[in-house]
Amino acid sequence: MTPLPNAWTLDPDTLAEAVALRHELHRCPEVSGAEHETAKRIASRMRTFGAEVATGLGGTGVAAVFGAGDRTLMIRAELDALPILEAEGPEHRSEVDGVGHLCGHDGHMAILFAVASALSRHAPATRVVLLFQPAEETGAGARAVLDDPKFAALRPDMAIALHNLPKLPLGAVALQEGPVACASKGLHVAFTGQTSHAARPENGRSPGLALARLIPALAALSRDVPTEDPRFRLATVTHARLGVPSFGISPGEAELQVTLRTLLNAEMEALEAEARGLIATMGAEFAPVITVHDPFSHSVNAPAATALLESATQGLPRVKGAIPMRPSEDFGLFGTEIPAAMLFLGSGTDHPELHNPDFDFPDALIPIGAEIFLRGIAVFSASKTDKMS
Ligand SMILES: [Zn+2]
Ligand SMILES: [Zn+2]
Repeated sequence: MTPLPNAWTLDPDTLAEAVALRHELHRCPEVSGAEHETAKRIASRMRTFGAEVATGLGGTGVAAVFGAGDRTLMIRAELDALPILEAEGPEHRSEVDGVGHLCGHDGHMAILFAVASALSRHAPATRVVLLFQPAEETGAGARAVLDDPKFAALRPDMAIALHNLPKLPLGAVALQEGPVACASKGLHVAFTGQTSHAARPENGRSPGLALARLIPALAALSRDVPTEDPRFRLATVTHARLGVPSFGISPGEAELQVTLRTLLNAEMEALEAEARGLIATMGAEFAPVITVHDPFSHSVNAPAATALLESATQGLPRVKGAIPMRPSEDFGLFGTEIPAAMLFLGSGTDHPELHNPDFDFPDALIPIGAEIFLRGIAVFSASKTDKMS
């Protein structure tokens, strides 16, 4: 295993600071795209470590650059929390009503804080960009960062990330080459007919029957195959509304939301085309207007980046069968442009699920995650002369 410089040993004071930062971030969560204060806190900590800091990346994103060299490794964390009310429990419970760090992004940021602290004591022998990405939960953040002209100067040769994952043993690693998380996309459809008196429905045009037929037709686009099958597809109707709840009115408008999910982007294109076809045909009388929401690319781990994480996690317990997972990960979009890989780190078999009101990132993962990334940096630096692509 590549040895780490002594200065990268995570001492108890650094770890205590990282935990304190996580609790501070946890108390002040901000939703996707509005992570202004979180970004300020992170940028200020990164500056105290002597990093070159870029702010306002793709909105509120922050990047901290350490070391120098002709090759760059990017490690990504996320700034955003969720619009979910956190359950009573932790001493550091959210102080913002209806918003909570219930995906563990506070912990991912604390891990990068510990990494930054180590890099400030001993500069890496390569260029390292620690990216704190905005708006992961809506799937908008990675796109915005990649499209930001400021990102050109930070563009890495390789990108890595980790996400904590409940139901896996604490600190166990799930990692593999190829697909690790699904692509997904939300379609919102608005139908317009003609409202009339409930006593005279024939005077109006209700989209009710079209809506009722579309719901099972869309659901039937799903394929009953395992998630890891490249043909996997799932169409979940997530919302439907017909007019207003009144007994005196025959409705003249309706709306429908369906979430499409596939293992791979190519299958998503096919599924979306079929869903659009059904909506256009079955809703033809009601001028359906479709808008796309929260599009996520698939997440496919590239060979060289996966090999890097394999070396960085040597000796840690492994779990099989946990990935590919059905939820989507915005990090996947980086992988469509840059060799990238993401690993999943167990949050404990009894830990509440991600996005549950009682989820709280386990602080015990901070030193484990930080050491994985520091080892990754060491491996990346040592492989300088190799061709990695
Ligand atoms: Zn999440
Ligand atoms: Zn997350």
